[in-house]
Amino acid sequence: MVNNWWNFIQFRLFPPTCILCHRPGTGELDLCAGCRAELPRPGPACRRCAEPLASDAGWVCGRCQRRPPAFDRTLTLFRYAAPVDRLILDLKHHRRLANARLLGRLLHMAAADWPACDLLVPVPLHPRRQWRRGFNQSLEIARFAGSALGVPIDTRRCRRVRRTAAQAELSAAARRDNMRGAFTVTGDWTGQHVAIIDDVMTTGATAGELARALKARGAAEVQVWVCARAGIPG
Ligand SMILES: [Zn+2]
Ligand SMILES: [Zn+2]
Repeated sequence: MVNNWWNFIQFRLFPPTCILCHRPGTGELDLCAGCRAELPRPGPACRRCAEPLASDAGWVCGRCQRRPPAFDRTLTLFRYAAPVDRLILDLKHHRRLANARLLGRLLHMAAADWPACDLLVPVPLHPRRQWRRGFNQSLEIARFAGSALGVPIDTRRCRRVRRTAAQAELSAAARRDNMRGAFTVTGDWTGQHVAIIDDVMTTGATAGELARALKARGAAEVQVWVCARAGIPG
């Protein structure tokens, strides 16, 4: 009921308008049908980590076969390419919360065919970075996905306890080392089915480390839901 009223108020105040071309949106989305058709959809991909593959046979990529990540599967909306990259950067650096609303709703729609989860866990920022940015973009995306799905968000029991070096120039192995011990998870997660929410995934090192910490606390299954999948460098 609260949700219905909240939605009602939102739509009266901010009727859906295409974020990309400013024409009226379709349904509840801030996106028109024309712009939606042009977005960079992911092609065949590893069902574990969403790494692009040559063909779609439900395969797992070589990297996941050699070294399976702690998460069980990855749902990705888009490739990290124009104009999705701009949507994410504008959310992160210019606080365009309408972009979080769009991405969160698209995640909710995409997750409809996926195994249900009990909790959403947005990837936490280090408190200092969050203080500087003023918000956590993954939490903003998770809010919209969670309210549409009716799944609660846990922000209290997962913390980023270590500041990590920028990952952009690092190889996959160096990223894993860089992330080790970055998160602390508290409480009992026994039997919980969790979805980690992040804006962009590159090697999966961040989600992998958070998933490892969640499973160490008893989580039964950890999915990762990301708005965009970037190519692995090198
Ligand atoms: Zn449009
Ligand atoms: Zn993989």
